[in-house]
Amino acid sequence: MHHVVVVGAGIVGLSCAWAAQRRGHAVTLVDRDFEGDRASHGNAGGIAVAECIPLSLAGMGLKPLRWLLDPLGPLAIRPSHAPHLLPWFLALRRVGAGANYARIGDALAALNRLCLPDFTGMLDDLGLAGDLHRRGALTVYESDAGYEADKASWQFKRERGVRFHDVSTEALRELEPGLAPVFKHAVMVEDWAHINDPKRIVDVLRERLRERGARFVRAEASGIDIGDPARVGIRGNDGQVVHGDKVVIAAGAWSARLARSIADRALVESERGYNTTLPGSASRLNREVIFAERMFVATPLSVGLRIGGAAEFAGLEAPANYKRSAALLKLARRYLPDLDDEGAKQWMGNRPTTPDSLPVIGPSRHSPNVLYAFGHGHLGLTQSASTGHLVADLLDGKQPGIDLTPFSIARF
Ligand SMILES: Cc1cc2nc3c(=O)[nH]c(=O)nc-3n(C[C@H](O)[C@H](O)[C@H](O)COP(=O)(O)OP(=O)(O)OC[C@H]3O[C@@H](n4cnc5c(N)ncnc54)[C@H](O)[C@@H]3O)c2cc1C
Repeated sequence: MHHVVVVGAGIVGLSCAWAAQRRGHAVTLVDRDFEGDRASHGNAGGIAVAECIPLSLAGMGLKPLRWLLDPLGPLAIRPSHAPHLLPWFLALRRVGAGANYARIGDALAALNRLCLPDFTGMLDDLGLAGDLHRRGALTVYESDAGYEADKASWQFKRERGVRFHDVSTEALRELEPGLAPVFKHAVMVEDWAHINDPKRIVDVLRERLRERGARFVRAEASGIDIGDPARVGIRGNDGQVVHGDKVVIAAGAWSARLARSIADRALVESERGYNTTLPGSASRLNREVIFAERMFVATPLSVGLRIGGAAEFAGLEAPANYKRSAALLKLARRYLPDLDDEGAKQWMGNRPTTPDSLPVIGPSRHSPNVLYAFGHGHLGLTQSASTGHLVADLLDGKQPGIDLTPFSIARF
C-alpha cells in the first residue's frame, strides 16, 4: 500500500483521494484553500456523458470571429492574454486536422462510457444516491437551420454509442411546460443526468475522506520534488515539503505550473464560465436544457435554477466580469419567462481546458511516482469518479479499464 499525496481538493482531486482510500492507500490532501470556491463548486451539475465532441474550429467558418466581436458573446479573449494563449490556440487548430477529430471523439466516448456507473457508485458510497436525477437532457432549437447544422454532430455521437431521440414540439411542451413555446426542434439525450448541487458533493466527499482518516494540509504547492527515487515530495510556498510514495496532481487549471516544475509540459488554459443561480425558480425545469443556438444551459438544481455558459480566456489572475452572468440571464428570460430574481447569485469558475478536450490522466514522463489527473474542461464533474478509478488502477499497478495513451501528458 502507498502513501498518496493528492494536490488539489476540487472534485477531481477528491475523487482520486476517495478511490485511493477505498483501495486501502493512506491519503494526504494538499490544497491552499479547501473550502475555496473553484470550478467544482458552482458548475452546471450535468453528468454529461453524451459529450464526446471535441472543441474544434473545423467547419466553423467566421462564427468564432463574430462571437469575439460581441463583447458579451459566448467566446471572449482578453487582449492582454492573447499572446499567452497562442501555443494552446495553435494546438486547438490541429484538433480538426486529419483523423484527429474522430480519434479524440473515440477517446472521450471511451472515458464517458465509464462515467455514469462510476459516478453512481461514488454517490452510493457517500450516501448521496438521491442527489442524482437520471431524466436525460433536452437540446432545443429555435430554427430549422440550427437543427440542420447540428445533424453531423448528432451522427458523430450516435456512432459512438450515445442514445438520443427527437421530441415533437407537443411532447416538449409536456416535458418542459416552463419553456416559452418558441422551439421548433428538440432532442432528448437519454445518456445524461444531473445532480442536486455540485458543492454538496464536494463538501460530503471532503468530510467522508476526513472521517476515514485522510490528512489535510493547507498549503500552496510550488513544485514537485523527484530527487529521491524512493519517495516524492510536494514543496509548499512556506518551505514545508509533504512527502509520500506517490503524488497525484489534480490542481485543475493551475496544474500545468506544477507539472512544469519537473519538466513535464501540458497545455491547459483557464476557460472561464459564468452563471446565475435563481433559488426561486428551481422547479421551472425538470431536467437540464441546452439552448443550442444561444450556447447556454439551464439546470434545475436543488439550490435553484442555474443558468450559464460562456468561454472566456483571460488567464488565471484577471478579475471576473459578472456582466457575462447578467448577459446570459437576460438571454435566458426570452426562453424562460417570469424568472424569479430574489436571492440570485452570480458565479465564475475556471474550467481547466486542454486544446484537444481530453483530460490528462497518467504518469509523468519523468517519474512513475507522479500521476496527473487534470484538464477535464467542461466535463470535470462527469469524469471525476472515473478519473479516480483510473488513477487508483495506476496506483495499484493494474491495467486500467480503458487505453490511457490518448490522455498521456506526453502528447503535448
Ligand atoms: C460555468 C461552468 C459550468 C460547468 N458545468 C459542468 C457540468 O455541467 N458538468 C461537468 O462535468 N463539468 C462542468 N464544468 C466543469 C467542471 O466544473 C470542472 O471541469 C471541474 O470542476 C474541475 O475540477 P478540478 O478538481 O480539476 O479543479 P478545481 O475545482 O478548480 O479544483 C482545483 C483545486 O486545486 C487547488 N489548487 C490549485 N493550485 C494549487 C496549488 N498550487 N497548491 C494547492 N492547491 C492548489 C485549488 O485551490 C482547488 O481547490 C463546468 C465548469 C464551469 C466553469
